Amino acid sequence: EVDWFSLASIIFLLMFAPLIVYYFIMSCDQYQCSLVSPLVDLLLGNMRLLDIWDKTPPLTYKAAGIYALWVTLQVILYAFVPDFCHKFLPGYVGGVQEGAVTPAGVVNKYEINGLQAWIITHVLWFANAYYFHWFSPTIIFDNWIPLLWCANILGYVVSTFAMIKGYFFPTNAKDCKFTGNFFYDYMMGIEFNPRIGKWFDFKLFFNGRPGIVAWTLINLSYAAKQQELYGQVTNSMILVNVLQGIYVLDFFWNEAWYLKTIDICHDHFGWYLGWGDCVWLPYLYTLQGLYLVYHPVQLGTANAVGILILGLVGYYIFRVTNHQKDLFRRTSGNCKIWGKKPEYIECSYMSVDGTKYYSKLMTSGFWGWARHFNYTGDLMGSLAYCLACGFAHVLPYFYIVYMAILLTHRCIRDEHRCFSKYGKDWKRYTTKVPYRLLPGVF
Ligand code: NDP
Repeated sequence: EVDWFSLASIIFLLMFAPLIVYYFIMSCDQYQCSLVSPLVDLLLGNMRLLDIWDKTPPLTYKAAGIYALWVTLQVILYAFVPDFCHKFLPGYVGGVQEGAVTPAGVVNKYEINGLQAWIITHVLWFANAYYFHWFSPTIIFDNWIPLLWCANILGYVVSTFAMIKGYFFPTNAKDCKFTGNFFYDYMMGIEFNPRIGKWFDFKLFFNGRPGIVAWTLINLSYAAKQQELYGQVTNSMILVNVLQGIYVLDFFWNEAWYLKTIDICHDHFGWYLGWGDCVWLPYLYTLQGLYLVYHPVQLGTANAVGILILGLVGYYIFRVTNHQKDLFRRTSGNCKIWGKKPEYIECSYMSVDGTKYYSKLMTSGFWGWARHFNYTGDLMGSLAYCLACGFAHVLPYFYIVYMAILLTHRCIRDEHRCFSKYGKDWKRYTTKVPYRLLPGVF
């Protein structure tokens, strides 16, 4: 059942999320990243909405060509180039891997080749920048708003296609969820794991490729723009590139682990993932770099080092917490966490066909400190990116505010789901580990 609050939030997001993205990017383009000035101008009558719209770059053939080439390259790298990296990179898990059991009891296979796609894409980028010179490394920044229209078109096409596919030709009918509410189904998705053919998995492709591979390229394009405009790249831009680069590389190095996260294991594929991966992620997760093109902040050494340490400690907590759960689940508890056998709570649940499954919830390591300490590490890293931009404007801080809302909401949503899945076993777990994000506080 869809409660009124969820429905209201969904309709709000469907109506306003594209406008929010536009507002942020337009503020940088026309108002030097000030979020307040456009509102003041509108309220004082200095500007009309139409004036702002008239100054906004339109969709161009050039941007459409760049975007089409970009998506085609990623589709080719995803669907037609089997993973090679796992054959020579020690410790890397790639190639064909299994996902978790779906509610209908299906175990999907995935071709994990994201690291390879990321490396090939970046090798091509640097080969172009330093050798071939086919296009300027500032190409992304220079076409940023025309590309926004292309990303929106893809986001809406994919989400609408996924909805139609869910009704008429689902990949697995038993894993579809119909609430009967059009807006909810469009936003949160009907199909669990929509696919074309045996291997083209929508969730894995859209989350990883047009969005996350692009993230580091977008940041590189911003750094190139700083170089072009000011003759140097500031240390804050380098920090943002390095810290977000670590996060992105971590994602691809652990892509097999990603198959066990909420996005793949529990979320259905709708507008939230489809449009979100095409538009929200590449445009709003890269705001710090965009801001630094307009405001090239050069940090003092102590501040730069402090921010680097915060980012690296956050990353360490994020990675180790995720690794502990992954190791624990993969070995079914037969492993060592901080040098000791892990403690856990045995639990059971039923799938839709009535089969009983058993699982374990770990209560040691970082999972004994709080129920989502991985989110805490993620939030520390997110804060570091924002702090690199100084305190002159609020725009770069959007990311930490958004991540705090996203991860707190995700935490509550996940706990609600875990409670309905594990029932009294989940209660035993929350008694043993009473805090969500910060021990002693929340
Ligand atoms: P988690 O990796 O924390 O996975 C939650 C699931 O893990 C639960 O549904 C449950 O699944 C299982 N679980 C919960 N507690 C335990 C326990 N004590 N022991 C063993 N298993 C447990 O969440 P996410 O998938 O949301 O996040 C993965 C990472 O991705 C996080 O680090 C997060 O910060 C990051 N992330 C980043 C985003 C971004 O936009 N940058 C967005 C979202 C996430 P089960 O049903 O299997 O028991």
